[in-house]
Amino acid sequence: MRLILLGPPGAGKGTQAQRLVARYGLVQLSTGDMLRAAVAAGTPVGLKAKDLMAQGALVPDEVVCAIIADRIAEPDAHNGFILDGFPRTVGQAEALDAMLKDRKLGLDAVIALKVDEDALLARVEKRVAEMAARGEAVRADDNAEALKKRLDAYRAQTAPLIDYYGGKGTLSVIDGMAAIDAVERAILAILKGKTGKPASGKAKPASKPGKKAAKVAKRAGKRTKAAKKVKKTKKSTVAKAAKAKSAGRAIGTRKGGRKADSKGTRKAVSARRSVAKKRAGTARRTAKKTAKRKSGRR
Ligand code: AMP
Repeated sequence: MRLILLGPPGAGKGTQAQRLVARYGLVQLSTGDMLRAAVAAGTPVGLKAKDLMAQGALVPDEVVCAIIADRIAEPDAHNGFILDGFPRTVGQAEALDAMLKDRKLGLDAVIALKVDEDALLARVEKRVAEMAARGEAVRADDNAEALKKRLDAYRAQTAPLIDYYGGKGTLSVIDGMAAIDAVERAILAILKGKTGKPASGKAKPASKPGKKAAKVAKRAGKRTKAAKKVKKTKKSTVAKAAKAKSAGRAIGTRKGGRKADSKGTRKAVSARRSVAKKRAGTARRTAKKTAKRKSGRR
């Protein structure tokens, strides 16, 4: 599966990408992470990108496209990938189309997270505070000034991708302001519709072995534990029936020919009958006495 997550900085693309990685076993290709690693390692790409990133400006298309072309050629990307933060310009989107075409690959989905820009600053401030509390290094561009520039870059250079992918029919837009779990559910529903693949990572535990599971297994021609259990039960029922037949009685009956499970019921019925009999006798005697007394009085 190959998909793109689109959205302004702070929209939650990274969070959702990580969840999809866990579910589908895809790799997350975040150009921001790759560039930060290059900056930290002091590579030539890192040196080119460092200042632009700190200001909140975009790194040139040819730099990021070269990184992505190398990355999607690596073996771990063969199972599929999530592009997070790439493409960010129409030029990058066209370059990606060419890369995928060369490899005879396509995109399964482009999902845009729609967010209220006013809320983004609050989100980024919260993220910075949380990172600082955990003792993690805060990004050079996670400040109000750089965020404003990043949002401007998004509006001017990245937002046109909504029309680009909308025109190709691959785009789905979801509410990125919803709770993280709700956003995830919306993404999973889109992916299920596009690929027919249910989410696998957090799949429900398999149901207990039972007849249903055995039927499914039988259909699949498999001898699972459940199938074996049902077969065993069937076998013992057949054996019991044969034994009963040879003893000249029906299955489910005891040797004496009486229903095994009706014993308790019969006892209860006869007990009830004797109580009723006693009561009827007492009533008869009382009626006689009363009649005698009345006739004596007359
Ligand atoms: P991100 O972590 O995705 O917010 O990216 C952080 C910064 O890395 C951006 O503000 C840009 O400076 C740079 N960057 C990341 N991805 C790209 C891209 N696809 N094109 C250009 N610059 C990028």
